[in-house]
Amino acid sequence: AKPALSLVVPCYNEASCLASFWARAGDALDALGLPAEAVFVDDGSRDATLAVLSALAARDPRVRVVSLSRNFGKEVALAAGLDHASGDAVVPIDADLQHPPELLSELVAKWREGHDVVIALRRDRATDPAARRIASDLFHRLFSRVSAVPVPPGAGDFRLMARPVVEALRAMPERIRYMKGMYAWVGFRTTNVEYDVEERAAGNSRYGLVKLWRLALDGVVSFSSLPLRLSSILGALFALVALAYGGWLVIRTILH
Ligand code: UDP
Ligand code: MG
Repeated sequence: AKPALSLVVPCYNEASCLASFWARAGDALDALGLPAEAVFVDDGSRDATLAVLSALAARDPRVRVVSLSRNFGKEVALAAGLDHASGDAVVPIDADLQHPPELLSELVAKWREGHDVVIALRRDRATDPAARRIASDLFHRLFSRVSAVPVPPGAGDFRLMARPVVEALRAMPERIRYMKGMYAWVGFRTTNVEYDVEERAAGNSRYGLVKLWRLALDGVVSFSSLPLRLSSILGALFALVALAYGGWLVIRTILH
């Protein structure tokens, strides 16, 4: 049967999380009683992720595996997952159990009420280190100021999207895909539910300082003309100074 619901699970070195993830996510899908699938995207993992996923797929026909040729980052892994998901609704969800799969029933209930997008908003980010919380908060404030589309605080990738929303995202030709901005940009009838972020099932965040900085830069460059305007102003300023200096050189040469 064609799945009503697809999970899209980006995985980068998550071998130690996957068994507990699928135990809970599989149960959550069972509880829904809908035809469902889970599209796991191995984002060029260097650990046993792909082997663990293949073993899961051999045991459970709902499990599908997409394997990327190298580590492209979560945004690209999600794009690949959306391309391969065939459900009437699609839910991106992290493999580390920070997004509780039990929330699926609430997401589906809101979808059934007629919403196209049901955002799972995290209540707080107590599980993140203080420095990252502060940096994320500052970034969110900056992004809301300069971005053309508002992004609700606490919104991430964890959300349910009806098929038309998925098709809208897939139709976007961006190479640099800043999903948080793209979700907001496509619009649709949106509502939200709240959840508490859990501790990572195993290991540490796959996002270091450098990766987060790049993501933030991608976000600002993709969704605001501020960097472009700043460089125009700076360019004009340099041109003016050069012109004035050139004029002064000419005058000095004629006078002396
Ligand atoms: N992830 C990925 N590619 C990457 C980094 C992360 O597919 O290059 C996946 C990761 O396996 C997890 C999800 O994205 O399922 C969220 O990553 P993580 O938990 O490290 O981020 P955090 O929760 O700290 O934001
Ligand atoms: Mg995580």
